[in-house]
Amino acid sequence: MVEKVYKNIYKILIPLPGNPLKSLNSYVIEAENGGRHLLIDTGFNRPECFDVLIEGLRELGISPADTDVFLSHLHSDHAGNAGALQELGARVIMSSKDYHDICTVDWDKRGKWYITEGMREEVCREVLANNPAILFRPRPFDAITVEDGDVLEYGWMKLRCIEVPGHTRGQICLYCEEEKLLFSADHVLFDITPNICSMGPGTNMLGSYLKSLEKIRSLEPETVLPAHRGMGGISLQERIESLLLHHQQRIDETESIVRRQPGQTAYDIAGQMSWAIRSRNWEDFPPGQKWFAMGEALAHLDLLVEEGSIRRVEKNGVFVYSPA
Ligand SMILES: [Zn+2]
Repeated sequence: MVEKVYKNIYKILIPLPGNPLKSLNSYVIEAENGGRHLLIDTGFNRPECFDVLIEGLRELGISPADTDVFLSHLHSDHAGNAGALQELGARVIMSSKDYHDICTVDWDKRGKWYITEGMREEVCREVLANNPAILFRPRPFDAITVEDGDVLEYGWMKLRCIEVPGHTRGQICLYCEEEKLLFSADHVLFDITPNICSMGPGTNMLGSYLKSLEKIRSLEPETVLPAHRGMGGISLQERIESLLLHHQQRIDETESIVRRQPGQTAYDIAGQMSWAIRSRNWEDFPPGQKWFAMGEALAHLDLLVEEGSIRRVEKNGVFVYSPA
């Protein structure tokens, strides 16, 4: 389960049962001369993930008590075991924004908001009762928080924190300048498009994401270690180009749906966007996928509202979208 991927860097492949992502790449930077090791990301808070993680560390001869755990972002497939590892003596490090958000997340509030954006109450209830992000989240933990530009040192590696808002508000990629090596977290994945969800009207997470792609485009790393799967023979630059193009097409698609039929809710608009899910129609979408689709549709609508090409207005307690 442990694979050496670079000089002193090892990958522990953590299974994510029942999740379309299939697995998480958890990376370990081995210390030298008695320093602390660094573990990047941890899998869901469920035994199938935790046991593989602990077995991987054991294989490397590394104790959690001698390890710092860096969470690239707050999502449960990355942060899930932070609390458990802390109980074994590890220190946890993450961005101050994502630490704030993970400590204050309010799923019911998000559900109520989605209902005002047109989602049916029973769909919302079902998702909130079965959402892996909620079921497999970490138990509470303390974190040492970092900011954009901070430098962490492990082994002989200096790792600069590059904050890349979009997928979450405070996701961080770690970059080692000397080795031209980038841990791209969920910011750039190569055979999956990272999910970009609105965090609320006016948050423009998609606008932030597109800017964050530009931010790392100039780095020109020679080695990229993503949080899920591999690079599939594509360079970072090529992948960024295709992600920028993908989102521009989605933005255009969203805008044309609003122009074709003004006055629809985000839920109705999401149902007319194209999704890579095999389902006969929008009503047959699994509720969990509808939830993701809503977040994505809202992120695209939010960007169009911020740009001034469409507007969001309240009508009988729900919000609808029309050309500006
Ligand atoms: Zn994520």
